[in-house]
Amino acid sequence: MSPPPKPDNEEARLAALYSFDILDSAPERGFDDLVRIAAGICGVPMAAVTLIDRDRQWFKAQVGIEHPDPSRESSFCAHAILMPDSTMVVPDATRDTRFADNPLVTAENGIRFYAGTPLLSGDGHALGALCVVDDQPRELEPYQREALEALSRQVTQLLELRRVSRQLSHQLRERAWYEQQMQLYQDQLEQQNADLSEQTKTDPLTGLPNRRAFTAALDAAMQKAGQSGEALAVAVLDVDHFKTVNDLHGHDEGDRVLVALADMLRAQAAGRGLAARHGGEEFVILMPGATLEEARLQCEFMRQSVGLLPMGLPISVSIGLAARQRQDTAETLFRRADQALYEAKRSGRDRVVAAAA
Ligand code: GH3
Ligand code: MG
Ligand code: MG
Repeated sequence: MSPPPKPDNEEARLAALYSFDILDSAPERGFDDLVRIAAGICGVPMAAVTLIDRDRQWFKAQVGIEHPDPSRESSFCAHAILMPDSTMVVPDATRDTRFADNPLVTAENGIRFYAGTPLLSGDGHALGALCVVDDQPRELEPYQREALEALSRQVTQLLELRRVSRQLSHQLRERAWYEQQMQLYQDQLEQQNADLSEQTKTDPLTGLPNRRAFTAALDAAMQKAGQSGEALAVAVLDVDHFKTVNDLHGHDEGDRVLVALADMLRAQAAGRGLAARHGGEEFVILMPGATLEEARLQCEFMRQSVGLLPMGLPISVSIGLAARQRQDTAETLFRRADQALYEAKRSGRDRVVAAAA
């Protein structure tokens, strides 16, 4: 027996074969059908689609072969692929020096007739063969050869289709995965953005809205009051001699005072306005709907509440306030409240001063 030599382009041929990712795949109806048709047209009991791997022959489909032999050494198809462009016909293997002592031939009911048409990939590599086999010697009629060659082209078409459809479904899976990752990433981004925008609006020490948030709220309240004619007041509150609190009791204790004060302001503003930390030991209170007198009463109440805070040290605040006048902008309204605060400080602290109407 002469074992089949390997084609010159063996490595490229194997690369082409592997690109189909078909070796050891499950049986598929399309290939089974073509094998049956080949056997039927050629009038033989056995037919197969074989693929020639580096060291073996693998059957994608077969009919009538009881024990498909995986050996490349004894494979007829491994010979057929050596002539990619023609169908190899062995009318009687016992009379062919290549096969006479082949174990597949010498076996009981061994192979006598073989015809195999190479399966050519798009770039011309012989991947394996579509073959028909009989245990009787026979000839291949021209119409049978033509049919075998046509069916061989069908097999390669099916291989190509299978590859494309697998690539497509792989791409679809990848795309689904990619889209899922994008969604995940976007959700994370949105969460981070939400956190960030919360952080940019909130004072970290007291949890009150910060100056930036207050400015936005003041602008919105001014616009609303401008349209509705509703009253609006703004108060600026500053802790008296706070530097001394820090100096005497330490910065941490100072922080504790600021937090307690913020909690009190938040509670008092709840439901009717907005308390914010404007910076340092200075707070602002937005009082929509409050006239100057109503705001003054509220501020007076706040000032007295500060004195009642259970801080263990004497704390007082000065408050300046102003009510919106028709010509006011947010800036002028705030400036008048700030000037009133200055006046409260100047005139002795621990008091509320309302800007003149
Ligand atoms: P005045 O009655 O005139 O307002 O006197 P004051 O000491 O309160 O005013 P000043 O502006 O001289 O000092 C404010 C102090 O507030 C100085 C600063 O160290 C302190 N301060 C500002 N922010 C914080 C803070 O977040 N924590 C603490 N513990 N202290 C702060
Ligand atoms: Mg102060
Ligand atoms: Mg201050």
